[in-house]
Amino acid sequence: MSHTPLPADLVLTGGAVLTLDELGTEGTAIAVRAGRIAYVGDDTGALAHVGEGTRHIELAGRAVIPGINESHFHATWLGAIWPATIMDGLAGGSGFAQSTTLDTSAQRLAAILKAGGIAASLGITSYTEPGLGPGEDDGATGACGSDVLVQYRSLAAEGLLRARVTVLMLFGEIDGPSSLDDFERGMRDLELDDSDSEWLRIGGVKVFADGIPPMRSAWIHGHYPDGSHGELLVGGADEAEREANMRAMITLAHDLGYQVGVHATGDRSIDTVADAVAALDPADLRHYVIHGDLVSRATLDRMAALGMGLNTQAGLAPATGGMLAATLSPEVAAAAWPIADALAAGIPLCLSSDAPVLTPDWRIGIATAAEWAGEGRLGDARETMLTLLKAYTVHPAWQDRAESWKGTLGVGKVADLCVLARNPLEVAPAQLPGVDVELTIAGGRVVFSLRD
Ligand SMILES: [Zn+2]
Repeated sequence: MSHTPLPADLVLTGGAVLTLDELGTEGTAIAVRAGRIAYVGDDTGALAHVGEGTRHIELAGRAVIPGINESHFHATWLGAIWPATIMDGLAGGSGFAQSTTLDTSAQRLAAILKAGGIAASLGITSYTEPGLGPGEDDGATGACGSDVLVQYRSLAAEGLLRARVTVLMLFGEIDGPSSLDDFERGMRDLELDDSDSEWLRIGGVKVFADGIPPMRSAWIHGHYPDGSHGELLVGGADEAEREANMRAMITLAHDLGYQVGVHATGDRSIDTVADAVAALDPADLRHYVIHGDLVSRATLDRMAALGMGLNTQAGLAPATGGMLAATLSPEVAAAAWPIADALAAGIPLCLSSDAPVLTPDWRIGIATAAEWAGEGRLGDARETMLTLLKAYTVHPAWQDRAESWKGTLGVGKVADLCVLARNPLEVAPAQLPGVDVELTIAGGRVVFSLRD
């Protein structure tokens, strides 16, 4: 006889527990104690963890997956304008007000808390806030400046965060220019920062390489119909100096041990980022390209070999593909955001919403990604679902350099769980948006319940 385990805080039995681990382990039950997973397996094994004070939830066929990790999520900004999104606003469909600005610390705190509620209702237990820093202190949104980090710190200190937050610092403007001087100053200050816990961590820095193709601001090898080819947003007197400055930013961050996420959409920007990473001293920092609209297959192979990641948004394809086709060509638009190619190259692809650009609902993200990847490109419906679920759990944990303690369900890992009304592996991707998120558990704590 094995000894009796300490009583769990929470035991869920009678469902499908999808660990999403490499072996594809599935169980019917899971037990949680002190914020960690104490057991995954069958009901009998889990019931041995039920003792005095244990909350026992009967899943009745519902499914448990790892908590969703929204790996590119402007949460504070979303909290400011939700339920509007930027894309809805562009389409003229909603009440998105351009003037929505967070002016005070209290408003920023409220926006973070509101976004935490939205995230919890969607099963999101981790997210990356991509771009906070002094360059946005007087920014148009008020949602990306230094004070946002101050508010996150106070919430983390009080245990009031409902999701784990990874921050990318930004030493320039959102979707705007940056200078090597500001970047160097910012990195010196960052070295003094000590935010590093399982709930709030500064993961690295964000660099805006370029804009977006439909605005002709993506830096491309070819040219736009007007003969232009975009340019880097990083400051410099000419093309060569801008490129040298961006490479200097990436190198400086890397040498100080920080990960770099580069907003890069044009093929020339992306190739330049890969060139910069190829020249770095070896270190497992997992620099990644954000968006990657026009990345070529050859560059995807190269990025995989360099240990780089790609963080992209399938929803941009239906939302902006028409504009891209009109700006460059239908062929370029059809090959953009190459989800299947990135996975085939071996990149741990992260899918995200870039909310409030797109809706933060990852179920819609998966349905859209499956459609954009193309029928059969990711395998049958079950394989497609499994792959795309990993792009919202396992791969973002890799991006966070946290796969040893989150992203899959296993004994000793954090108890970040998303309970769905049905087993997603038995649902076609297009049907996933109709599957309710019933319960969200972060660090063993119920942070959302559909039925309460
Ligand atoms: Zn973004």
